[in-house]
Amino acid sequence: MANGSRIIMKDDGSLTVPDIPVIPFIEGDGTGPDIWRATRMVLDAAVNAAYNGEKAIVWLEIYAGEKSREKTGEWLPDATLEAIREHVVAIKGPLTTPIGEGFRSLNVTIRQRLDLYACVRPCRYIEPVPSPMKNPESVNMVVFRENTEDVYSGIEFQAEASETKEVIRFLKEQMGVFVPEDSGIGIKPISAKNSKRLVAKAIQYALDNGRKSVTLMHKGNIMKFTEGAFNRWGYEVAKEKFKEQTITEAKLWDKFNGVLPTDKIVIKDRIADMLFQQVLLRPEEFDIIATPNLNGDYISDALAAQVGGLGMAPGANIGDRCACFEATHGTAPKYANQDKVNPSSLILSGAMMLDYIGWHEAAEFVNKGLQKMVKAKTVTYDLARQIEGATKVKCSEFGQGIVEKIKRM
Ligand code: NAP
Repeated sequence: MANGSRIIMKDDGSLTVPDIPVIPFIEGDGTGPDIWRATRMVLDAAVNAAYNGEKAIVWLEIYAGEKSREKTGEWLPDATLEAIREHVVAIKGPLTTPIGEGFRSLNVTIRQRLDLYACVRPCRYIEPVPSPMKNPESVNMVVFRENTEDVYSGIEFQAEASETKEVIRFLKEQMGVFVPEDSGIGIKPISAKNSKRLVAKAIQYALDNGRKSVTLMHKGNIMKFTEGAFNRWGYEVAKEKFKEQTITEAKLWDKFNGVLPTDKIVIKDRIADMLFQQVLLRPEEFDIIATPNLNGDYISDALAAQVGGLGMAPGANIGDRCACFEATHGTAPKYANQDKVNPSSLILSGAMMLDYIGWHEAAEFVNKGLQKMVKAKTVTYDLARQIEGATKVKCSEFGQGIVEKIKRM
C-alpha cells in the first residue's frame, strides 16, 4: 500500500479523512498483542470489502506500556502523545498500570494529557451471548462519562497526615464545618465548562446518530453543588447550543402529551440510584446517558454486564482535538501470548473508530461480521464456557473467522 497521509481536524471540529489515512496504534501489554493482531486483520478486511481497495489504513506503531519501557526506557513517551495529537485518531490495546512509577494509570494519564474528556461506551446486545436480562436485546445505550474531573482528580489527603489536619482545621475555623479528626479527605471538583462540553458532545452524538433521548445521570439530591450543578449545566447547554433540536421531558408531556416530535430529542434527568433500577426494569426508555466521572464508571460496567460482560464492550476516549479508541478490559496477563482471549472489545472499538472517521460502511462490515461469528457460536473460551453447543476457537481464529464472514457478505 502506498504511503498514507494524516487525518486533519478542521477548526469546526469536522474531519478531513484521506483515502489512505495513517492511524497510530498501541498494541498494549499482556494479551494486547494477541487481540490487536486479530483486530487489525478484521479492520483491514472490512475497509477492503467496503471500498473495493480504494481506501485503506496505513498503521503506525507507537509505544506505551511495557514495550515502550523496553524500547525507550519510558512508560509513556511524549512522542506517543504527540503522534496521537498529530494523527487525530488512534487505537490502543490495554496497558499495565506501572506500580510505584509515579503514574496512577497510563490510561488515565493519556486521557488527561490529551484532554480526552468524553469516555464513550456503547452497550448493545449481541445474540446469543448469555445475559442476566430477560430481554437483553432491549439494551441499546451509549454512556458519555466525563473523564477529567470529579473524584478522579486525585485530590486526596490521607487520614492523620499533617496537611489533612490542616484541611480539617480550615474547614472548622473558616467554613464552620465539622469533620471528624481522623478522617481522610477527598475533593470532588465538577466545573461548568467540563460538564457542559461533555453534555454537548452527548447531545451532538444523539443528533448525529438518530437517537431520541439524552439522560443526565446525577446524584444532585445529595451533592447539590457538584452533581446537582452538573444536571443544571446539562440543561443549560442544551438550551444554549441545541435550542431548536431539544426539548425537556417536562415540556414533552406539557405540550406534546409525551409524543416526541420527529425533529427533536428529549433531555431528561434521573437520580443515579433510580437510574440503576430503571435501566434494568425499562431499558428501552434510555438511549444516551451523560454523567460525571464516578457515576459513569459504575453505570458503564453495569450496562456491559446486562449485555454479557466487559469482554464484548467497546470504548473510546474523545476530546475536541483527538480521540483514542480502546479495549475496555485490562491486559489479562495470565493469558498473555496464548492466543486465547476474546478480541471483541478491541474489534468493536475499531468499528467505533471507523464510524468516527465517517467510514460507516466499513464499520457496518465489522459489526455484522462479528455478530455473525458469535451467532454461529464460534467463539473464544470465555463465551464458549457459557454458550451451550459452542465451538471454542483461538483469538486469531476468531479474527480470521470474522474476515471470512466479511468476504462472503
Ligand atoms: P483484566 O485484565 O481485565 O482481567 C480480568 C479477567 O477478565 C481475566 O482474568 C479474564 O477472566 C477476563 N478478561 C479480560 N479480558 C478478557 C478478554 N479479552 N477475553 C476474555 N476474558 C477477558 O483485569 P485485571 O486482571 O484486574 O488487570 C490486569 C492489568 O490490566 C492491570 O495492570 C490493570 O491495571 C490493567 N488494566 C488496564 C486497562 C486498560 O488498559 N484500559 C483497564 C483495566 C485494567 P477469566 O480469568 O475469568 O477468564
